[in-house]
Amino acid sequence: MSVRVRLAPSPTGNLHIGTARTAVFNWLFARHHGGQFILRVEDTDLERSRPEFTENILAGLTWLGLNWDEGPFYQSKRLDLYRDAIRTLLDKGLAYRAYDTPAELDAMREAQKAKSQAPRYNNQHRHLTPDQQANYEAEGRPAVVRFKIEDGRTIRWKDLVRDTMTWQGSDLGGDMVIARAASGDSIGQPLYNLAVVVDDIDMKITHIIRGEDHIANTAKQVLLYEALDAAVPEFAHTPLILNQAGAKLSKRDGVTSIFDFKQMGFTAEALDNYMTLLGWSPPDAEERFTLAAAAKKFSFDRVNKAGAKFDWDKLDWLNSQYLHEIPPTELIEKITPYWQEAGYKFDPVADRDWLEAIAALIGPSLTRLPDAVELGHFYFSETLPFSEAAEKQLQQPDVAPVLQAVLEALKDAPAFETIAEAKTLIDQVTQAQGVKKGLIMRSLRAALMADMQGPDLIDSWLILHQRGFDQPRLQAAIALATA
Ligand code: GLU
Repeated sequence: MSVRVRLAPSPTGNLHIGTARTAVFNWLFARHHGGQFILRVEDTDLERSRPEFTENILAGLTWLGLNWDEGPFYQSKRLDLYRDAIRTLLDKGLAYRAYDTPAELDAMREAQKAKSQAPRYNNQHRHLTPDQQANYEAEGRPAVVRFKIEDGRTIRWKDLVRDTMTWQGSDLGGDMVIARAASGDSIGQPLYNLAVVVDDIDMKITHIIRGEDHIANTAKQVLLYEALDAAVPEFAHTPLILNQAGAKLSKRDGVTSIFDFKQMGFTAEALDNYMTLLGWSPPDAEERFTLAAAAKKFSFDRVNKAGAKFDWDKLDWLNSQYLHEIPPTELIEKITPYWQEAGYKFDPVADRDWLEAIAALIGPSLTRLPDAVELGHFYFSETLPFSEAAEKQLQQPDVAPVLQAVLEALKDAPAFETIAEAKTLIDQVTQAQGVKKGLIMRSLRAALMADMQGPDLIDSWLILHQRGFDQPRLQAAIALATA
């Protein structure tokens, strides 16, 4: 049997981390078994589904590299299939039309509440006589189609994460609505649980991998498989993603769409790697891997039942590891949009080599891509305002003549392109001025970087020199030192 799994997102919002992690587990399982990963867009909720959400979901999966083998299929284009299945259930007597009005259903719930009972449909239209039914139809009452759920039924299925699962029919809220707005012979609008099962049967899905928030649906769906004479697939209910406080991760935790992560400067590779670790641990305790490498080792034996806490520090750490490995020639493509947004002035084509030198220098210090804005700010303007610490350094004794000597030496230097040339110049000035090397290095940092902290001084100097920014900065520093 060839493994066939699917991701079935509803386009009622952007691709969020929960669905993306479900996609990752489906992808890993499919690739591990050489099976098929199918994408099905569950857009039957006409009021809440939007084409822009579908686009966001497809683009997000593509950005993450979670390629699918079949689809995307759209449930909105498959309604006839669901209606046929509903007809079959009606014909078999396993489903029926119910005509309860919203007011009647409310009254039912109120009465149950008054008796401290859980709300459920009391199945009161299960046995309408043909006359009663005809009267309701004649009244023009809208109907729903309900699928019979026997209270006494025990439902069992095999769960790859949770072993054998059992559920009582009496806990499923009574006969379930599988279509709305049915009237006469028309079936109306098929609903989620029915459509999912019909599709999963039709698409020959062997394993259903989805979040544990679907467990109650699974119990209902198992009954539908049986009613439709289909084999029940295996299920894997994956743990929820929790915030640090242990609650389900939500928008309030600062994440909505996968593209928020992109915007925050995470790479797809790091996010994939991190999502894989959200609930799964590899057998070799390796923490960094590509999706393809994880697929080789992936199994549900090592997926936890307990919720997976979202750990920003771990994601940051992984992201930094990935960023540090990207060669400057590629890194620059990822960084320049942030620099442009920050208003830094440069020509992406003409300044390419110069930009790459900055990327090479600051790359190893990046945790998230936007860090390049702070780390890069040293290089894009002729002068910079001095920080307090830099000012303090520049006001130390001996600083002005030392910087003046550097400036003179720089003007005389035939070439100033290599680290060796910069070091020679510093050594010469140190000797000629008879000062400590530490003083000259600290003063140079204050002068050139306008701060006492930042990227490597000599590399930075060479970068600034290429732009002709080092001399004006030295001049500004000398002016301050002599003021
Ligand atoms: N459409 C459902 C959702 O987005 C998923 C259904 C499923 O995986 O069975 O939550």
